Amino acid sequence: MVQGKKALVTGSTSGIGLCIATTLARQGADVIINGFGDAEGALKHFQQCAGKGLYFSADLRYPSEIEALLQFVHSELGGIDILVNNAGIQHVSPIESFPPEQWDDILAVNLSAAFHTMRLAIPRLKSSNWGRIVNIASVHGLVASVNKSAYVASKHGLVGLTKTVALELATTCITANAICPGWVRTDLVQKQIDAKANSESLGVEQAAQKLLAEKQPSLQFTTPEQIAELVLFLCSPAADNIRGSTFNLDGGWTAQ
Ligand code: NAD
Repeated sequence: MVQGKKALVTGSTSGIGLCIATTLARQGADVIINGFGDAEGALKHFQQCAGKGLYFSADLRYPSEIEALLQFVHSELGGIDILVNNAGIQHVSPIESFPPEQWDDILAVNLSAAFHTMRLAIPRLKSSNWGRIVNIASVHGLVASVNKSAYVASKHGLVGLTKTVALELATTCITANAICPGWVRTDLVQKQIDAKANSESLGVEQAAQKLLAEKQPSLQFTTPEQIAELVLFLCSPAADNIRGSTFNLDGGWTAQ
């Protein structure tokens, strides 16, 4: 299905993004990964799984670095077929004490970066006559939680942006959709579990179970593999006419 396709997965040095990138690569796609943290370790893991792979370190807060990233994709792969906007960051605080610079960074990475990657990638996707855009939003693109003003605003924005782009591309061979996971146990959520364990004097596993019990009726974390499999499905011919949709992988969170 994705054999020989050219893909960019942003924020793919850990968690969900790394799993999506390796899943696409194992199925034969040429993938470029991006992100911070242990980039060297991530690339090594990726290359071990995929047999090949390239990394570019753009900081997605800055449009000029996003332009350089897309330029790198085009020069290394000769085009792009699959764009997965996955990079995302979180900060938890009431709005009165929410640091303005955190607001700016979250909006830049979670929302504006997807605008820039899409505006730059779509002309190339059009020229290859087939394309998939998958934006990793969140249940917080559909419902809110306290103390997550920037995250919720950015993810609601990303869902709206996805719908708009899907409509603009509706008569082309390029689809755009959003995936909305509930809790997935990655670094981003582990920080919230650790904070909860500290603030409520709980063990880490107790805090994880409490976090699930508050929101996710299945009481199970969604896994990166489940999200990656959905990305693969969205790249299949069966998904040709799925456009501007949101897919909740949230253990029943938004059904309540
Ligand atoms: P993660 O922290 O493991 O991964 C985030 C990735 O984004 C990392 O590769 C990181 O280096 C990269 N990144 C952060 N800032 C960046 C920047 N300025 N420029 C480039 N890359 C940057 O977290 P994750 O849980 O795997 O999150 C992936 C996506 O899934 C995010 O968009 C997140 O909002 C979304 N999501 C996660 C959950 C969850 O429960 N973990 C739930 C719903 C949605």
